[in-house]
Amino acid sequence: MEDCIFCKIVAGQIPSTRVLETGDYVAIRDIQPAAPTHVLVIPRRHVESVAHLDDGDVEVAGRLLLGARDVARKEGLAERGYRVVINTGREGGQTVGHLHVHVLGGRQLTGHGTS
Ligand code: 5GP
Ligand code: ZN
Repeated sequence: MEDCIFCKIVAGQIPSTRVLETGDYVAIRDIQPAAPTHVLVIPRRHVESVAHLDDGDVEVAGRLLLGARDVARKEGLAERGYRVVINTGREGGQTVGHLHVHVLGGRQLTGHGTS
């Protein structure tokens, strides 16, 4: 996926602040944080969105959710609580076409989104 910004971040071609990484995903700090902690969990393999997951992607989908849990633990959010958000498609507010999970925390969150 030549023009995908998150593929480039995963490949190290665009700099980012990595919080955690495994063979399945890279977790980085969001460049425009909407909360004191705002981390993106990005699968190494390019999948456009939740809508593009296949039934066979159960492993990668599960690993992403566990990645969000592990990021929250590492960032000290597990006790106080946090939000896990996956914007999907145009009306879902997705702006980068490579599946990613937002982990937000460090303040009282209201509503249901990333703000
Ligand atoms: P979406 O709106 O697709 O759910 O989330 C995309 C997120 O990626 C936004 O919160 C945006 O701030 C973040 N983002 C976009 N470009 C970059 C970048 O080059 N580096 C980092 N670290 N975050 C980015
Ligand atoms: Zn990509």
